[in-house]
Amino acid sequence: MIAHLCCSVDAGYFLKRLKEEYPDEKITGYFYDPNIHPYSEFKLRSLDTKRICEKLGVEYVEGDYNYEEWLRAVKGKENEPEKGSRCSICFDFSLEEAARFAKARGDNKVTTSLLMSPMKSHEQLEAIGRVIKRKYDVEFIAVDYRKKGGTQAQQVYAKENQMYRQDYCGCLYGIWQQKSEQEIIDELISPYPFQVLPASIEERLNFYENRLDLEEKGVKYKIVKENFLNYRLLKSSITSKKKPVFHYTLFYSYLDRPQRVRIETQKDDIGYGNRAQVIFIKLNKINELLNKTYQNIKELFKEPLKLEEELLIRERITNTKYSLSPVIVLEEFEDIRYDIEIDAKIYPDNKEILIKF
Ligand code: SF4
Repeated sequence: MIAHLCCSVDAGYFLKRLKEEYPDEKITGYFYDPNIHPYSEFKLRSLDTKRICEKLGVEYVEGDYNYEEWLRAVKGKENEPEKGSRCSICFDFSLEEAARFAKARGDNKVTTSLLMSPMKSHEQLEAIGRVIKRKYDVEFIAVDYRKKGGTQAQQVYAKENQMYRQDYCGCLYGIWQQKSEQEIIDELISPYPFQVLPASIEERLNFYENRLDLEEKGVKYKIVKENFLNYRLLKSSITSKKKPVFHYTLFYSYLDRPQRVRIETQKDDIGYGNRAQVIFIKLNKINELLNKTYQNIKELFKEPLKLEEELLIRERITNTKYSLSPVIVLEEFEDIRYDIEIDAKIYPDNKEILIKF
């Protein structure tokens, strides 16, 4: 039997029950979810689903990430609400592929862990199951393990196994609908230059990969969450007499409105602006402090600093890594007025941390 899997929380308890109900079936977990945006989230959900399959002794296969094909399939349904026609197409897309996968492997039964999700309509899934039966001659097993306390047992099982819990269904359009109240929708941001930012999917992916290493080494641990002040730079522009000034803006740099600033005081390649607590630092100083060899700002964008390095610089020149003064890297200082505009968000957020025992 092929069990299409959508995420670890739905897959774990579902597979456990499925194995109990079908002890003679060889079950293969097929993670086919090209609907998931962005790709790093796809990898993160796959990583944790694979982990839970391995715990349960279920073969695991990660399907292709046919994202563009999925986007074409739901074209015109972008604004449909959850459980609407976009979701039906989305289920069709995944379950038809699961049926083709089953056929190709000589399996004659298909099911899906989507049947576990309280956000998914059983009727919709069963209707797709009937289509699959007609089209591919593969039986759709429409088990309902949500009943009789199943949903509660699923939550307990997910907690016991410290599974990764996503907070949105999966697709780009679902994110817009489910997170529209949030000031920052991190899943829709790609930092430039690329860095692993706090509480980003990429940071979580690294975190859960490290957790796998710990499990392999037999280290006992507990995942908890901590609150912190997060930051995202949305725009940073510097011009002088309307000409752009190449620069690099460090993490936590904040300005509440555009400012015209000139360097008033200089010491050791650090320049202090005449207003808004703006600090300028020469690229050479960055090289000196971090033992780097950047020749120009362009190189800094090609190979950006790690976040910890940016915070270290901030700490060295402002005495605390939590200062919000704009810290701007320039190749050289000039006796001109810099027109600076920084659009940045500072907001309370939380992220997973791991306590080892
Ligand atoms: S909201 Fe979820 S089920 Fe609906 S289309 Fe998006 S990913 Fe698919």
